[in-house]
Amino acid sequence: MNLLKKDFIFQDVNKLDGVGQKLSKYLKKRKIEKIKDIILNLPYSETDRSKINKINGLEIGKINTIKAKVKKLNFPRIRNIPNKINCEDETGKIDIVYFNSRESYLRKIFPINEWVIISGKVNYFRDRYQITNPDYVTNLSNQEYVLQNIPKYNLTKGINEKKYRAISEQVTKKLPLINDWLTKEFIKSNNLLSWNECFEKLHNTDESKDIKSKSFRRLVFDEICANFLTLSKYRKRIKKKKISKSFTQKISKRIISDLPFNLTQSQKIVLKEINSNLKKNERMFRIIQGDVGSGKTIVSLLSIANVIEAKYQCALMGPTEILAQQHYNLALKIFKGTNFKIEFLSGKTDLSKRKIVLDRLKNGDIDLIVGTHALFQKKILFKRLGFVVIDEQHKFGVKQRSELARKGGDNCDVLLMSATPIPRTMMMSLYGDMDISKITEKPLSRKKILTLSKPEKKIDELWIYLEKQINIRNQIFWVCPLIEESKILDFSSAKKKFDLINKKFPNKVGLIHGSLSKDEKDDVLKKFLNNKISILVSTTVIEVGIDFPNANLIIIENANKFGLAQLHQLRGRVGRGSKESTCILLFKEGLSKNSIQRIKILKKSDDGFYIAEEDLKLRGFGDLLGYQQSGIKTFRFADPLLHQDLFKLAERFILNQNEKINEKKYDFLLKLFDKAEIINVNDF
Ligand code: ADP
Ligand code: MG
Repeated sequence: MNLLKKDFIFQDVNKLDGVGQKLSKYLKKRKIEKIKDIILNLPYSETDRSKINKINGLEIGKINTIKAKVKKLNFPRIRNIPNKINCEDETGKIDIVYFNSRESYLRKIFPINEWVIISGKVNYFRDRYQITNPDYVTNLSNQEYVLQNIPKYNLTKGINEKKYRAISEQVTKKLPLINDWLTKEFIKSNNLLSWNECFEKLHNTDESKDIKSKSFRRLVFDEICANFLTLSKYRKRIKKKKISKSFTQKISKRIISDLPFNLTQSQKIVLKEINSNLKKNERMFRIIQGDVGSGKTIVSLLSIANVIEAKYQCALMGPTEILAQQHYNLALKIFKGTNFKIEFLSGKTDLSKRKIVLDRLKNGDIDLIVGTHALFQKKILFKRLGFVVIDEQHKFGVKQRSELARKGGDNCDVLLMSATPIPRTMMMSLYGDMDISKITEKPLSRKKILTLSKPEKKIDELWIYLEKQINIRNQIFWVCPLIEESKILDFSSAKKKFDLINKKFPNKVGLIHGSLSKDEKDDVLKKFLNNKISILVSTTVIEVGIDFPNANLIIIENANKFGLAQLHQLRGRVGRGSKESTCILLFKEGLSKNSIQRIKILKKSDDGFYIAEEDLKLRGFGDLLGYQQSGIKTFRFADPLLHQDLFKLAERFILNQNEKINEKKYDFLLKLFDKAEIINVNDF
């Protein structure tokens, strides 16, 4: 019985009374598929229908509720001529107009000479008030149902308020008493509400709009916990016993001594942390966070050398073809003096080659495979996979990460790398309790990027400068802003810019924008990488992680359209080679205080973590660090800044019982928030 009760909320919406095929199709368009989705679809506002207006005092264009007497029903029975009901009160007359409504139905709800309550939007037509297709018509004995504040939901076309309300109320009424997974004491001492109380309140009052209300906080707490639990489930799968890897670092040390530079202190520390993980008999699950250009790749390759020395296979994965290719080339270069067998695999690898690579992986004949998310595929089997490195990890979902790790069986260590600085409160929700290494310093040889700002109207001063750069074969990024996230507008602005620059420097300019296919993009990027073109005009963010050592100038148009952290990421596209590099921020006139502050910060600092913090302060809530762009958007209700206390509470709550988490008990919770993963692998 208990089970049945619980199951109710996970049934398809068409199990509800009054929800037929047509309606459930509409609901599904709004992602309302199961009954629980109705529970989670919170009202965003309410409509006040509580006051009865006299007809002579109606507000045209607004929703009004009236009490009127039915005088006459007119059914013209001619196509396109609506049915019309004449009503009146002591102060005036009104027509209620219906298109496509059945006569018998109208006769039933509008009995002649009776008083009825009518609520709907009022207009004025040919000297008379009228309401077309009113939201509610009811007799006086049921008037209380209409005379209230009625919650407003985001609805798809095709479901009216009354209909949706009936469904939503049906659910509230049928909602079984859920065996709460939080204890009464916990609920009370943390100022929350019980599960049932919470969902009753969220739909009946405007608590849903108050992110500090007890009911909303309960919802948020549950969502955070569901998220943490999912992660800890994956983590359990990942973090298990393994055979420790034994190696002497003979090869990696030789590689280090052959490098044309010295490792930074940070790199050395991280390398040590990784090595000690590799040698332990618990699987590693670690993320390296380091600013763009801090040298994460070399650290991962050195660890890879150790793992190969320990006689395991390694997989290194990048989010895009071109980035993976770059890693592959670097690996070939760095491992030149070794006998490591290295191969590349992506979605574009041709079939015959692919088959050979797959066979060799299975036979253990490849030591390091570098590639894209193609490496996730089921068919790919390893003989002795011992180490998976995933670059720019936020582009991949948790599920995918764990799947790749699973290929390695019990002995696979996992290392993630990311250049996106993440505030502490987001850490747990994104990664669970994984280990974190930070690379905090940049290579000494790195030259500081000169950051300048310039009003857009002085753009003409740039051409001479550009020409000089092109003549000495330097390369330039030209970034156009996103315009209202519209691909078409984006494209036209970038295209215009491209045409303009191309006229000045014929055959030296390439264009990249959101509507290009992956192959077309790769084509342009390759041309730029090989210095076949000098200027790359692009709309969206130039792919994180790609090393274009020869590019030393980046021009960012309409720079106040970008967040601070994003500007910093963009700026990090240059200054990777030995040349002095420059970043020019072009601004429109009349900068806001906030924008001026942002330029100041960028000019002053080169430290991604510092900039991320400043960014948070300047932006306040909402779009944290441009998470949207980086593909990190995990919560529907919780806000990592506004609900910091709940994040901490949930973290403690989960960690406290980590070992003895009763997964069955939380099954309900996980199902309620069906923890969909962000899969963003096709990005760019
Ligand atoms: P990211 O951390 O952004 O992935 P990369 O690993 O791509 O950075 O490194 C950027 C560049 O810096 C590469 O060309 C790499 O060879 C170089 N590099 C890495 N470590 C050092 C170092 N310690 N000193 C000088 N250059 C380094
Ligand atoms: Mg990188």
